[in-house]
Amino acid sequence: EESMLRAYVGKKAKTLNHMTCSLHANIGSVEDVAVALYYDAEGIGLFRTELLYMGKEQAPSEEEQFIIYKEVAEQMKGKEVTIRTLDVGGDKQIAYLNIQQEENPFLGYRAIRYCLDHQELFKTQLRALIRASAYGNIQIMFPMITAYEELIEAKAMLQEIKEELDRAGIAYNHHMKVGMMIETPASVILADQFAKEVDFFSIGSNDLIQYTMVADRMNTQVQKLYSPYYPAIIRAIHQVAKAAIANHIPVSICGEIASDHKLTNVWLNMGIHKLSVIPSGLLKLKHHICHMHTDNLHMDQLLQANTREEIINLLDK
Ligand code: PEP
Ligand code: MG
Repeated sequence: EESMLRAYVGKKAKTLNHMTCSLHANIGSVEDVAVALYYDAEGIGLFRTELLYMGKEQAPSEEEQFIIYKEVAEQMKGKEVTIRTLDVGGDKQIAYLNIQQEENPFLGYRAIRYCLDHQELFKTQLRALIRASAYGNIQIMFPMITAYEELIEAKAMLQEIKEELDRAGIAYNHHMKVGMMIETPASVILADQFAKEVDFFSIGSNDLIQYTMVADRMNTQVQKLYSPYYPAIIRAIHQVAKAAIANHIPVSICGEIASDHKLTNVWLNMGIHKLSVIPSGLLKLKHHICHMHTDNLHMDQLLQANTREEIINLLDK
C-alpha cells in the first residue's frame, strides 16, 4: 500500500470531475516538518505551538520561538505555514502558567482568553511570529475565539507590535495574513461578522463538535454524540463555509474530521477546498480524492436531514 501511495507524491489532489483540494499538514514541532514534506504536504495548515511551552520550567523566550518559526517557514520554502498562537487550558495544562484548578476546564480560562490577560507572554509569541514572517509564508491564527472583541483586541496587539518593529527597523512580511479558528458555536453564529475581520477561517472540528453537541471529546460515555454525522454539525460547517465564500476568504478544516474519507465529498460540495490532516494521512486522502466524484451527493437532502442515521445513509449511498 505504501508504495502505491508514494505514486501520489507530486500529484495534485483532484477529483475525477476535476475539482481540486489542497492538502496541508498538522504539526506540533519543527521536527514534524520533514515528515509533512515526506508525505507531500502543500503547506502547514496547523502548527500547534503548545508543545513549545510544555515540559519546561518557563515559557520559551522570543528568540527561542523565533528560531523555531523561522526554521519551519524556511523548510517549507514559501509554502503556506499557518501557526496557531498558544492554545493552553482545557486538556493542555502547563504548570508554570498558574491556571487554577477549574471545575470545567474546557469552559474555562484557556487559549485566547488567557493570552489576552497575559500580554507579556502573548506579545513575546506574537513578536517572534511577526519577525519570523520575513523568512517564508507564515500566517497567524488565533484559537478559541468566541467574542468579536477578543479578535479585535488580538489584532490590535499585532498592530502594536508591528509598529514597534517598524520603529526599530526590523523586517517582517507586511502582508502577513491573520486568521482564526472556528471551533466554538459562538464563532459559527457570528461567522459572517468575523469573516470581515480576518483573512481566513480554519474549522477546528475537534472542539466545535464537543461544544456544539455538548459532549466531552474524552468521555467515552457520550462518544456517540461526539460525532460529525449529526445534522447540527453538518449545518454549522455549512454556515461557516457560506460566510467565508460570501466574504471571499478561504476556509479550511484542520480538525480530525478532515481525514474522514466519508466526509470529503461533503466539504468539497460546500466549497471547502483545503484540508489539514496528520502527515501520515495525507497520501491516503489524496488517493481518495483522486478517485472520487463530487456530483453524486444530494446536498439538499443532507442539509435537511433530521438524524445521524439519515446522514450516514446519505453518505453511504
Ligand atoms: C480542533 O479543535 O479541532 C483543533 C484542531 O484544535 P485542537 O485539537 O488542538 O484543540
Ligand atoms: Mg481546538
